[in-house]
Amino acid sequence: MISFDFTENQLEVQRMARELAEKKIIPNIAEYDREQKHNPQLLRDMAKADLMGFCLPEKYGGMGMDYISLGLACEELEYGDTSARVVLSVHIGLYSMPLCTWGNEEQKQKYLTPCAKGDKIGTFGLTEPAAGTDAVGIKTTAVKKGDQYILNGEKMWISLADVADYFLIFAWTDQDKKKARDHTGLSAFIVEKDFEGISTGSIHGKLGVRAGNTGFIAMTDAVVPAENLIGNEGEGFKIAMFCLDQGRYTVAAGSTGLVKACRDASVKYAHERETFGEPIAHHQMVKQMIANMEAGYEYSHLLWLKAGCKKNKGEPSTRETSLCKWIACREAEKAAGDAVQVHGAYGFSDEYPVERFYRNCKGASIYEGTREIHTLMQADYALGFRKDKPLRVHLPIVNQE
Ligand SMILES: Cc1cc2nc3c(=O)[nH]c(=O)nc-3n(C[C@H](O)[C@H](O)[C@H](O)COP(=O)(O)OP(=O)(O)OC[C@H]3O[C@@H](n4cnc5c(N)ncnc54)[C@H](O)[C@@H]3O)c2cc1C
Repeated sequence: MISFDFTENQLEVQRMARELAEKKIIPNIAEYDREQKHNPQLLRDMAKADLMGFCLPEKYGGMGMDYISLGLACEELEYGDTSARVVLSVHIGLYSMPLCTWGNEEQKQKYLTPCAKGDKIGTFGLTEPAAGTDAVGIKTTAVKKGDQYILNGEKMWISLADVADYFLIFAWTDQDKKKARDHTGLSAFIVEKDFEGISTGSIHGKLGVRAGNTGFIAMTDAVVPAENLIGNEGEGFKIAMFCLDQGRYTVAAGSTGLVKACRDASVKYAHERETFGEPIAHHQMVKQMIANMEAGYEYSHLLWLKAGCKKNKGEPSTRETSLCKWIACREAEKAAGDAVQVHGAYGFSDEYPVERFYRNCKGASIYEGTREIHTLMQADYALGFRKDKPLRVHLPIVNQE
């Protein structure tokens, strides 16, 4: 049965996230964005509003909320700024949820509970300077020495790299498989920022998400206890793909919120700005752009809801997740371009938020599977070259109805 009614709990999460966006993000985001500065207070505010672990199990300090709540929170936060939604994408989607599914009990107590409470921040390190889409092209190695692994390599373009406490890092444990590009030689580790041999830094001069931290993690003979291996040796690729199935969902819902922000800003401006003796809202071509935003919001929203419903039921949803991510990011790019257009020259300046939306939307068509990768995936599903198999692991959260 399909229902478009949200539960009280889901609406409560939506309210919390909306209030945070209105009170804590929107009032000062232009300044942080202009200065390319991460706002550390935002993470504390998100933790205070219980947004850092609300959809993680209560057993580990979360609130046991479901995927729909997660989507709603992402929509509302990205309505404020993309950098705030990115926090949920990496901290919950790419780090905590995978740890919940793949970690053992000790690992969850140690590395999930503080994250669910918002006391620590987690992120995900797969991309390297020479390998993004081509994940088996990564070079980082993990060599076992007694009860430790020694990691060498560099992760690049990592969200919150210079802010997070814990990193989910992917590295080759089987060097022969590395040479053969066999992904069953990859493994996943929890690495603490303070481990010996770890250093981090920030990237400046980004096109968008300027109020968010993006950086690198360098590992030089980094010493990682063997008990920090997640899953078994050789399961790293499977874990990375699982991570992306959670993270992409948050990007889709967030981009949907960005479409809505573009629509609302454009509607407001279209009523205020006059040309030829009447508000531009009365010109058909302006209406066309706003109608496209309206449609783009509605179908992006429906697509992530569909993926979220499947996830709530513990069903495979890679196809639906890829589709909603691809479409929502595409609609956000279209909406942001048109929102600047609706604003004319004012859209070209940071006096109005649409200029920031225009810069922010682009990243989402690059990270968590580029536009091209999702296009290929959808073609492959349609052509019968690709099919989702039943899940062999439990999703971190289940339907809360
Ligand atoms: C703001 C931001 C935040 C990020 N955060 C993280 C993070 O937290 N953790 C993390 O691990 N990574 C992160 N990334 C990295 C991101 O996941 C990669 O940039 C992405 O996977 C693409 O890899 P690439 O940049 O190396 O591009 P490439 O893989 O080099 O691709 C370049 C171009 O070639 C195309 N292409 C590549 N292969 C194919 C193919 N087979 N068929 C068709 N086209 C192809 C791509 O679509 C793209 O257009 C982030 C990136 C950005 C911009």
